[in-house]
Amino acid sequence: ALVTRFGPSPTGFVHIGGIYTAMVSRDLAHSTEGVYFLRIEDTDQAREVAGADVQFARAFDAFDLRPDEGPLSGRDDDGPYGPYRQSQRSEIYLSFVRELMRRGLAYPDFATKEELAEISDAQKKLKLPTGYYGRWAPWRDADDAEVIRRLEAGDPYVVRFRSEGKVGERVAFTDRLRGRVEAEDNHNDVVVLKTSANEPRLPTYHFAHVVDDHLMRTSLVVRGDEWLSSVPTHLQLFTALGFEQVDYAHLAPLMKQEGSSRRKLSKRKDDEASVDFYLEAGYPTEAVLYYLRGLANSPLAEVPLAEALATPLQLDRFQSAGPLVDMVKLADICADHIATLPAPEVLAGVRGWAQTYDTALVEILDESEKLALAAIDVERVGVENPRKDLARWSDFRTAYGFFFPALFTDVADPADERFGGLDPALVTRLAEDLAGRYVHEGDQPTWFQQIRDLAQTHGFAPNPKTYKKDPDAYPGMLRDAANVIRVLVTGAQRSPDLYEVTRVLGGDEVVRRLRAVT
Ligand code: GLU
Repeated sequence: ALVTRFGPSPTGFVHIGGIYTAMVSRDLAHSTEGVYFLRIEDTDQAREVAGADVQFARAFDAFDLRPDEGPLSGRDDDGPYGPYRQSQRSEIYLSFVRELMRRGLAYPDFATKEELAEISDAQKKLKLPTGYYGRWAPWRDADDAEVIRRLEAGDPYVVRFRSEGKVGERVAFTDRLRGRVEAEDNHNDVVVLKTSANEPRLPTYHFAHVVDDHLMRTSLVVRGDEWLSSVPTHLQLFTALGFEQVDYAHLAPLMKQEGSSRRKLSKRKDDEASVDFYLEAGYPTEAVLYYLRGLANSPLAEVPLAEALATPLQLDRFQSAGPLVDMVKLADICADHIATLPAPEVLAGVRGWAQTYDTALVEILDESEKLALAAIDVERVGVENPRKDLARWSDFRTAYGFFFPALFTDVADPADERFGGLDPALVTRLAEDLAGRYVHEGDQPTWFQQIRDLAQTHGFAPNPKTYKKDPDAYPGMLRDAANVIRVLVTGAQRSPDLYEVTRVLGGDEVVRRLRAVT
């Protein structure tokens, strides 16, 4: 059984890549009857944002990724290896730092910012690798007496790990996703404990990762490949602390196409990097998960959604290059998915979204549930190509809003451009005439015959051919007259089948809308 974890930093932003990583971690653990836990990596208190927990809770709930252990797991005690927030574990890290110091594997460093800058300037001038190492590490082999004097004076210091790495030396390790990887060993004496000027004293990511993943029994660390180059440091730390090493799987980041090149989806530049973006727009989360699973393991993009969601991800199916997030493709997948859902499920989806993001719509749906279901079913039931105009729940207003009197704005101006430039007086006459003799009965051909008759009465050409022969003889074609009716009834020049729309609206409402322009 694998023990995996997700270790987000609470920066007030949940990246869609985090959902991707959490999903992979969850799958790998659960497909082996293991545990997937959450650890809040809040050692960078400057970047921390209040309310981050709420954001994660919302994201985990939406994407069904609640952890088995840790904060937000729903367990009272979070779990047996807590605390699961790094800021509450400072005593634990300190005891391991002390242990390393006692064994001479870590040491205090009192160098100031200015001194560190001088060191790296000098290294750059000599074209040497920059960093804190060897003879460039002033406190690495400092005099005990001097260290004690500084400590007693209360000078601030960090604690550094005494690296065994040599400049230019390479180490090989196995990544569960990439196989054998070689990286430059870290000759740097990395900081393990941040400055004593701040309370509580907190560790760096490197140190917290090693201590926590050991103590919390992680067996497979799934994380972004930006950490790949830190693995040599981490391996050294595991060894120094006498811990058994963990396995790693480094995931490539989600990418975005920009012109002819690709780059990482960026929190700063791309709306679609944020989980909130998907939730606010109301992308059906199961379809987003389906899409992400296809990006992770491409064969899953070829199987139906329910099957893909139930098939665990496999590490050997991942590409080492970052998958491209294509928002057009995602919208297609979402629209296809929604088109397969029965109307009550669509309505539940819209309502669930609207409860948070469009409460006015919830009221309307609650008042007109029957109408909503009928509207959704127009061109879905028994048709070969169901309507696919809902990709996001927020599309509901645009796609179906016109069905609801409360959301429909009458088209009252006969000169409105949606009437296609017809003489406004003629628009009014068409509307008046049909409103006066509208018959809301019969099958589609019978119903449509009255539109034909209407067009003929007002001198429209019955078909394009007749019209083209002598355009000056007619105000337009049958389809121009039908367009007037469509615009009056739906507010748009394109709509679902007009006959079906009028069935749903009912005769009285159709006539009322026709009269709006008269
Ligand atoms: N807190 C780290 C980050 O936000 C997590 C890396 C890890 O999973 O070890 O990148």
